[in-house]
Amino acid sequence: MPHVITQSCCSDGSCVYACPVNCIHPSPDEPGFATAEMLYIDPAACVDCGACVSACPVGAIAPDTKLTPEQLPFIELNAAFYPKREGKLPPTSKLAPVLDAPVVYRRPGGPLRVAVVGSGPAAMYAADELLTQEGVRVNVFEKLPTPYGLVRAGVAPDHQTTKRVTGLFDRIAAKDGFGFYLNVEVGSDITHDELLEHHHAVLYAVGAPNDKRLQVEGMGLAGTATATEVVAWYNGHPDYTDLPVNLSGDRVVIIGNGNVALDVARILTADPDTLARTDIADHALAALRASQVQEVVIAARRGPAASAFTLPELIGLTSTCEVVLDALDHERVSADLAATTDALTRNKLEVLSKLGSASAPITRPRIRLAYGLTPARILGDTEATGVEFTVTGSDQVEQMPAGLVLTSIGYRGKAIAALPFDEASAVVPNAGGRVLEPASGRPLAGTYVAGWIKRGPTGFIGTNKSCAAETVHNLVADYNEGRLRDPHHKPGAIGRFVRGRKPEMIDARGWAAIDEAERTRGGPTRPRDKFTAVPDMLDAAADAPSRPLRQRLLAGLLR
Ligand code: NAP
Repeated sequence: MPHVITQSCCSDGSCVYACPVNCIHPSPDEPGFATAEMLYIDPAACVDCGACVSACPVGAIAPDTKLTPEQLPFIELNAAFYPKREGKLPPTSKLAPVLDAPVVYRRPGGPLRVAVVGSGPAAMYAADELLTQEGVRVNVFEKLPTPYGLVRAGVAPDHQTTKRVTGLFDRIAAKDGFGFYLNVEVGSDITHDELLEHHHAVLYAVGAPNDKRLQVEGMGLAGTATATEVVAWYNGHPDYTDLPVNLSGDRVVIIGNGNVALDVARILTADPDTLARTDIADHALAALRASQVQEVVIAARRGPAASAFTLPELIGLTSTCEVVLDALDHERVSADLAATTDALTRNKLEVLSKLGSASAPITRPRIRLAYGLTPARILGDTEATGVEFTVTGSDQVEQMPAGLVLTSIGYRGKAIAALPFDEASAVVPNAGGRVLEPASGRPLAGTYVAGWIKRGPTGFIGTNKSCAAETVHNLVADYNEGRLRDPHHKPGAIGRFVRGRKPEMIDARGWAAIDEAERTRGGPTRPRDKFTAVPDMLDAAADAPSRPLRQRLLAGLLR
């Protein structure tokens, strides 16, 4: 009864360190970890202890006897990562090497105080790493009244197990030394220099909030949008509640075939009654109930072997949705299978080769994967009526009618006030998370990055754990070696300063009140019913009980 890692694997590697026999790979110290689509359990070495199950923050691991029918392909997928051997391997006590916690030396100007900007996975993993040391203080600044970044506003509502990682983030936020400063925008409500006056270091983990833009005629017409805007819309991000999402046509075309495209296609074709049991935004659910969409085409410019989606997500998609290929694309899959030796790519192609035919009559909203289509222009005068493609590598033109055209060609980092920015790669130039001045190539004092703004928009939630750990190790080394200037102000001064600037600042108690109110609104059938307007969030936060007198007195003493 070996254990099996399934689709929602977040790759943070917690399971690797919990495993007493080191049977989960690639581990964070191994080559291939950064690019792995998921982690895999060696069935021949697994001793079925279940330690990995409790360590996994997203509930992605189960014994092979407890898998749902949709999860069964993951038994073979885990096993296929390892060479074929007969029988069980003898147990081993070898443990994966754990990255040492960053030891913070006590200094006269201490304790170490770090401002973390952003509250998504990279920010929370950085806070966790810093708070392994007693006395360290971490203040997390977030421009929205709600924390956790793309876990709240990016992960699809039908992927609730992935969202379970917020349980881990809640535990990090409850640690001594952690402070939330939500509804505070760094760069407008408070500046980088002001943060440095109150902290030894500022660590930006702001993600990649923009989309790459497709430069073809007609983008920007009504009926065009980016897939990530639609993701923000159905996830209730307050800036996207009014996004016009036209679902009155029978076809939607999504350009690009990464995991974001798969997420959006799944939600647009899902049964609304199933979505009604998730935390999808109410306005999106109402629009989906009225939807006329019968087919979502995911159009890729290259061939099947170059598909950008990952195998776990493809397996998840094909086990829950009707996914088809037309005859020409079936031929492309066969040709790629004959020409491909890479095992992972072959696995993807095998799944594609078993898909149904697009010539079958449409009986329920379906997804069609289409290949070899390079977008040339958006059709339509005042609003999009479809897309004109050229068949990649030829002059042949193909027009595809659609009522909504979405581009899903990747995220893009955005420049941060007071920090250098590399326009070409859309990241903040850095070495191991230390921000570098472009002219001198020297580190910018007290300034660090982690997550997508450090390495670009790739990887999964848990990839940010090792990324943040690297940054924190360098930050702590700089502190220990006296390279960080002591803050001008005492630790307790920051709360008063921020409230002076932004009286509507929301702290941990405010967030707890919003969280509780959303869960209550969700009732017995939904995990939560999200507030989608900032004033409603502020009203809910205002109901938070005031801080106990003892804590207020303590905060006063620290000023
Ligand atoms: P992505 O994986 O980088 O895919 C981008 C897609 O856009 C590719 O198909 C690419 O095609 C295409 N593209 C780029 N430029 C194009 C152009 N000018 N014209 C036509 N097509 C173009 O991006 P993503 O889907 O936004 O995902 C971002 C990251 O988030 C990925 O690491 C992804 O795995 C992760 N993510 C994970 C999950 C999950 O695990 N459930 C969910 C969402 C996102 P080419 O390959 O031909 O360039």
